[in-house]
Amino acid sequence: MSDVNLKCACGTVRGKISSVSSRIGTRIICCCHDCQAFAHYLGQGESVLDQYGGTNIFQTPMSSLTITEGKSQIACLRLSAKGLHRWYASCCNTPIGNTFGAGGPFIGVIHSFMDNSQTQDVDLGKSRGYVFSQFAKSSIPEDLKASPININFRMVTKILAWKLKGFSKPSAFFNNAGEPICAPHVLEKKREET
Ligand SMILES: [Zn+2]
Ligand SMILES: [Zn+2]
Repeated sequence: MSDVNLKCACGTVRGKISSVSSRIGTRIICCCHDCQAFAHYLGQGESVLDQYGGTNIFQTPMSSLTITEGKSQIACLRLSAKGLHRWYASCCNTPIGNTFGAGGPFIGVIHSFMDNSQTQDVDLGKSRGYVFSQFAKSSIPEDLKASPININFRMVTKILAWKLKGFSKPSAFFNNAGEPICAPHVLEKKREET
């Protein structure tokens, strides 16, 4: 197990994930519309998304991540009122990661915030492949896709276990009262035709 240092592009926001390993966390590449929209909202489509429009994510217990510097620069976006909390460093628009609301036991940390691009496969294990590949920008070869049954089973069992173990706290993004550390900016849905 090792620690992974976290750093936004300009270096203002820093932190770490403690004691990570391929056994604990889960690496996936998400092609869903919302992950793509988040990268584009930040103007980071080029640096965050791969050739298929995928975002390289490491799911780890919430309590394993700490922010050590630049906390006041952290901002939160929700693509809809019920959407995930999508955290980023507002100093340089580096995406940090995605969480459920307070009490959610995990964060999907986005590769751009991890300061280990050379050693990710060693630190975190190999990626389990693409999910939501139906939303990819171009068709993804079958052998690069995650098996939906395997990946869903792994993610659900991990999340339940982490919830039972109380890994939702301490959280870098929600205080003990369950409030986010900054008010999320919620993107309005397009107004319905009347
Ligand atoms: Zn920054
Ligand atoms: Zn996604």
